[in-house]
Amino acid sequence: MNSTTIKPYLRLSGLEPLIVRPETNFVNIGERTNVTGSKKFARLVKENKYEEALSVARQQVENGAQVLDVNMDDALLDGVKAMTTFLNLLQSEPDIAKIPIMIDSSKFEIIEAGLKCVQGKCIVNSISLKEGEEKFIQQALICQSFGAAVIVMAFDENGQADTLQKRVDISQRALRILTDVVGYDEEDIIFDLNIFAVATGLEEHNNYGVDFIEATRIIKQKHPLVKISGGVSNLSFSFRGNEHVREAMHSVFLYHAIKAGMDMGIVNAGQLVVYDEIEPALRNLCEDVILNRNNDNNEATDKLITFAETVKSKGKEEKKDDAWRNTTVEERLKHALVNGITDFIDTDTEEARQKYPRPLDVIEGPLMAGMNVVGDLFGAGKMFLPQVVKSARVMKKSVAWLTPFIEAEKENNTSNAPKILLATVKGDVHDIGKNIVGVVLGCNGYDIVDLGVMVPADKILDTAQKVNADIIGLSGLITPSLDEMVHVAREMKRRGMDKPLLIGGATTSRMHTAVKIAPEYDNGVVHVLDASRSVTVAGSLLASEQKKGFLNGVTSEYNKLRDDFGKKQSAKQYISFKEAQEKAAIPNWTGYQPAAPSFTGVKVFDNLDLSELRNYIDWGPFFIAWELGGRFPQLLDDEVIGKEARKLYNDANALLDTIISEKWLTASGVIGFWPAVKTGPDTITVTSDDATTVQLEHLRQQVKKAANQPNFSLADFIAPVSANVQDYIGAFAVTIKGIEPHIKRLEAQFDDYNKIMLQALADRLAEAFAELLHERVRKIYWGYAGNEHLSNEELIKEQYQGIRPAPGYPACPDHTEKYKLFNLLNVTQNTGIELTESLAMYPAASVCGWYFSHPQSQYFGVGKISKDQVQDYAQRKGWTMEEAEKWLRPNME
Ligand code: SAH
Repeated sequence: MNSTTIKPYLRLSGLEPLIVRPETNFVNIGERTNVTGSKKFARLVKENKYEEALSVARQQVENGAQVLDVNMDDALLDGVKAMTTFLNLLQSEPDIAKIPIMIDSSKFEIIEAGLKCVQGKCIVNSISLKEGEEKFIQQALICQSFGAAVIVMAFDENGQADTLQKRVDISQRALRILTDVVGYDEEDIIFDLNIFAVATGLEEHNNYGVDFIEATRIIKQKHPLVKISGGVSNLSFSFRGNEHVREAMHSVFLYHAIKAGMDMGIVNAGQLVVYDEIEPALRNLCEDVILNRNNDNNEATDKLITFAETVKSKGKEEKKDDAWRNTTVEERLKHALVNGITDFIDTDTEEARQKYPRPLDVIEGPLMAGMNVVGDLFGAGKMFLPQVVKSARVMKKSVAWLTPFIEAEKENNTSNAPKILLATVKGDVHDIGKNIVGVVLGCNGYDIVDLGVMVPADKILDTAQKVNADIIGLSGLITPSLDEMVHVAREMKRRGMDKPLLIGGATTSRMHTAVKIAPEYDNGVVHVLDASRSVTVAGSLLASEQKKGFLNGVTSEYNKLRDDFGKKQSAKQYISFKEAQEKAAIPNWTGYQPAAPSFTGVKVFDNLDLSELRNYIDWGPFFIAWELGGRFPQLLDDEVIGKEARKLYNDANALLDTIISEKWLTASGVIGFWPAVKTGPDTITVTSDDATTVQLEHLRQQVKKAANQPNFSLADFIAPVSANVQDYIGAFAVTIKGIEPHIKRLEAQFDDYNKIMLQALADRLAEAFAELLHERVRKIYWGYAGNEHLSNEELIKEQYQGIRPAPGYPACPDHTEKYKLFNLLNVTQNTGIELTESLAMYPAASVCGWYFSHPQSQYFGVGKISKDQVQDYAQRKGWTMEEAEKWLRPNME
C-alpha cells in the first residue's frame, strides 16, 4: 500500500469536511431541527418562520453538533416542500452549512427532495428492509448516486429488531446486500441499532440498553469499517420533563455504548453532561438501569424513579457543554469571542502567544478572525448588541494580556487597523451611545481613539490629525450639540481636512445632517442611525473602491432630503406671531380655582432609597439603548430578541441588586413651588422665596392649525393677572451620583458590558426618580391629585393630571431657561448637579423640569417660529440677535 492510498474512513462534508477516523471519539448529530422531536422547530416551520427555524440549527452548531439531522415528517406539513425550503435556506448560511446534513425522513420522496438540495456529502436517515429487498436496493442505489452515506435501520419485513440477535442478523443481511449488490463501500454504511426506552416499568424493556450495546460490540468486531448510530433521547423517554435525569442517562449510556464501538448518535448537543461530573448516586442508578444490573423486579428502575422525584429538574435551559475546550487554541478563542466567555481567555491567549511568532500576530490572526465572525453575525442580525458588547469584553481582556508583550517587543508594534476617532462634542456630557458605537466598531477591527465627553472642536481635530484618524465620529444628545457639530464640520473644511465625518446621537438626524452639517464640509458627512449601521458605514468609507460610490450615494440622498425639506417647509403654513398669540390655549379662566401646594419654597431629597426608585423604572428606553426595541415586558418573550432581552434584563437586575446593596450610587433631588402668574402673552412671573420675581419666557407655536385648535405656549397653563386667582408653578431637578469610580474600575477591567449597563441603569434611576417625585408632588406636596392611583405602566403612559416639561425639549426648547430653574431651586448646592456651557447637566444621569398642574396642560412642540417672534423673545431675554440665533437655531428656518 503506498502512502497516498485513501484510507477507508467515512468522509462527510458540508462546506467543511468531517472525516470519521478510528480515533474520532464520537460524532454528535444535532437533533433539534426535527419537527417530531422539537415543538418549537415544528411550530416555526408550520408558521413559515424559516429564518427563526434556522436559528435552531445555528444553536445546534454552536452547541457542538457536528452533523445536523433535519426531519420534516409531520402530517400537517408538505414534507417535500418544507425539506426543500429549509435546506436551500440553510445552504446559504455558512456557519451552519459548514457541517454535513443528515436528511431524516421515513418517506423516501422527502429524502430524495433533500438529496437534491445539499452540497457536500450528506447522510440519508434512513433506508431499511422494512418493505423488502427490492425497494431497499432501489433506494440505496439512489442514495449512492447522490454520493450519500446511508443509515440503515435495524428493521426488516417482520418489524423492528428488538433483541440482540435480531439486531445483528438484520444488520449483516443489509450489509451483504449493500456491499455485494449495490456496491456501497462499508465505510459509508451506518447502522441504527434502535435505541428504545428503558425503565418503562415493563420487564421486557429492561435489557434494551444492554442489547444495543452488545450488538454494537459484535457488529464492530466483525465489520470495523461500518458505523453504529442511534437516536439517544428515546432511551430516557419515561423521564420526560426531568432533564436532569435524562441528561445523566444519556451520558451514562453513551459512555458504555461508545466504549463498545458506537460512532455517532442523534443528541441534543447542548445537553450532554460529562460522565465524570454526574453525581455518583445518580450515575450508579443510571448504570444499573441501563446495564440492567440489580434490576430484578424492576428494582433499579424503581430506585431511579424515586431518585428522579427528589431531584428538582434543572429546567429546560440549554446548557453549553465544554467540548469546545478540547479544540484548537484558535477555535477556543473564536468560541470565547462569539459566546462572550471570559473564563479562560487569559490562559487561551497565553497559549496562542506562545504559539505565534509575535504577540501582535495573535490579535491580527485568531482574535480578528473571531471578531470577524461576531461582526458578520451582528451585521446579519443574528447577534444582538448585548452579545456583541460581551464579545468586546473578551477581546479587550485578551488584548490586555498581550499588550505588555507587544510593548516589550518595541519595534514593529503598531497595528495597521484603520483608526476611528470618537468624541462627544463640547458642552455635552452624554456618551452611552458613543461608547456603544466604539465597542461595536472595535469589534469590527477598527482601532478606536475615544476622546470622551465635552471635547472642543480644536482638540478633536488636532488629535485626529496627530493620530492620522481615518474617520472622525461626533456624538451628542442635547440640541446645542447640533450647532457644535456644524462648527466642527466648518473647522474641518477650514483646515483642509479630507477624512469623512460621522454624526450620531439622540438629537441628530439624517435631515439635520443633510440640511445643516453636510453643506459645511465636502469630504463626506454621514449620519449613522445606530451602532449596527456604523459598521457598514465605516466599512464603505474605508474600502477605497467603495468610498467614492458610497459618498456619491449619500450626497445625492442628502441633496434630495434638503430639497424635500425646503418644499415641506414652504408647504407648511404658518400664521403670524400676533395671530398665534391670539390663539392661546386657555382663553377662559372663569371658575378655575388652582390648588395651593402644601408649601412654597424648596424641599431637598437626599439619599433617596434606590430600592424604592427601582419600582418606578421605565424599562422601555433601557432596551432601546441596547438596540433591542419593543414593548416591555412583551419583548422578553419575543421570538427573535426575547432570549437576549431576558438575559440582558436579568443582568441589569443583578447589577441593580449590587448597586443597591453596595451603595454604589446615591439619589439627590430638589423640588419647589412658587406663586406664579401669567404676566405677558408668553411670560410667567414667579415670585421666588426671597420675594424677588423671575420672568420665565416661553415660545409659542406658529404652525397653522384648524380654527378651534390653539397655538400652544407653556405660559398658557398659568392663570393670567385678569383671572384674579392665585396660581403656582413648580420645578424639580434630580440626579444619580457616584458613578465615576465604578466606571473607572470597569474600564480598568475592560468590562464595557457592565460599564454601559451601569450608565444605562443610572439614567433609568434618574428618570424613575423624576417619576416618583412627580407622583408625590401630585398626591402630597402639591396635592392637587390626592386620589390618584396609577400603576407604573399608567405612570409611564402619563395618565395623570399635569406635566413636567424639561427645558431643551420641544415645548420649551430654550436651554438657557435652565439657569432660572437652577437659581430658583438652588440646584447645584442642593443636589450637586452642574450645568455645562451648553446647558447639559452633569452628572449625565440628571433630569430637571417645570411642574404645571392645570388639567389641560399638555406636551407639544413649539416647531418653527417667525423672525418677529425671535426678535420679541430676544428682547424679553435681553439677548442680541446673535445670541437668539445661537439658542433658538433649531426652531428657526
Ligand atoms: N418614562 C420616561 C420618561 C422620560 S421622557 C423615561 O423613563 O425615560 C418624558 C419626559 O420628557 C417628560 O416627563 C418631560 O420631562 C420630557 N418631555 C417629553 N416631551 C416633552 C415636550 N414636548 N416638551 C417638554 N418636555 C417634554
